[in-house]
Amino acid sequence: MESEHEQTSPKNGVVGPKGFVSLVGAGPGDPELLTLKAYNRLQTAEVVLYDRLVSNEILAFISAHAQRFYVGKAASKHSVPQEGINQALVTWAKQGKRVVRLKGGDPFIFGRGGEELEALVAEHISVEVIPGITAASGCAAYAGIPLTHRDHAQSVRFITGHLQQIESELDWDALARPGQTLVFYMGLGSVETMSRELIAHGLPAETPVALIEQGTTNQHRTHIGTLATLPDAFLADQIKPPTLVVVGSVVSLHAKLAWFDRLSAKASGFHTGKHALLDKRS
Ligand code: SAH
Repeated sequence: MESEHEQTSPKNGVVGPKGFVSLVGAGPGDPELLTLKAYNRLQTAEVVLYDRLVSNEILAFISAHAQRFYVGKAASKHSVPQEGINQALVTWAKQGKRVVRLKGGDPFIFGRGGEELEALVAEHISVEVIPGITAASGCAAYAGIPLTHRDHAQSVRFITGHLQQIESELDWDALARPGQTLVFYMGLGSVETMSRELIAHGLPAETPVALIEQGTTNQHRTHIGTLATLPDAFLADQIKPPTLVVVGSVVSLHAKLAWFDRLSAKASGFHTGKHALLDKRS
């Protein structure tokens, strides 16, 4: 018998319909930064599980026939546990659905896409990964800050850390080396620690820093300062998440290269939804 188009469940040997999961990067916000491949999957999806940092304009591309589930953080700060998301992806796929797991930015950059892929592969589910423009690329481009530049930085590092532990978690000696750009995927709460540690480990206090707020959307703001001045300046500015911090001499280029006019931006902002797998819409 031809079994090419059928899927054999590894557990019970029962031949079932062929489900498929796409782990899709939605990019940083601007809907036009979505890949064509991502767009096509949203159009043909039967089930979509999406995160907090997916802009409303991108959600509008999802097929009207798809079931959608918000699995990001709710106002109450709860999010669906990762294990629950993994399980849901596996279950829908085993029911033969075309499933899209839609994430902000790129699924493999601080997006837990690796963990989801592991869970799916372990269950022998057919999968694909569709990369997205990560926040560092999108926000820096729209802020007029080239992440590398022959006169400024020969390497770039993407960094994240937990609010409580970044002081001990990160290798500050390595981060404070010259000739590189640092991009911190982290909230405002960590900015003070970051500045203090980088100065303590040898970066000049006048190193330029940009904090990019809601990058690529019509709420996009680029705040510029230095390691020494920035934390205070931010506190005064009523900044809303998500925010990305760029540290290094490339930031000085913003003054002449800023080009983006947020009033012409096509993304209004991010979904700040209600929880979860239970919150069923169609
Ligand atoms: N997978 C995502 C990152 C998820 S971690 C990616 O590749 O971009 C979430 C963090 O990303 C946020 O806390 C923030 O630091 C950053 N971020 C994501 N989108 C952003 C945006 N539009 N503007 C500023 N920061 C953003």
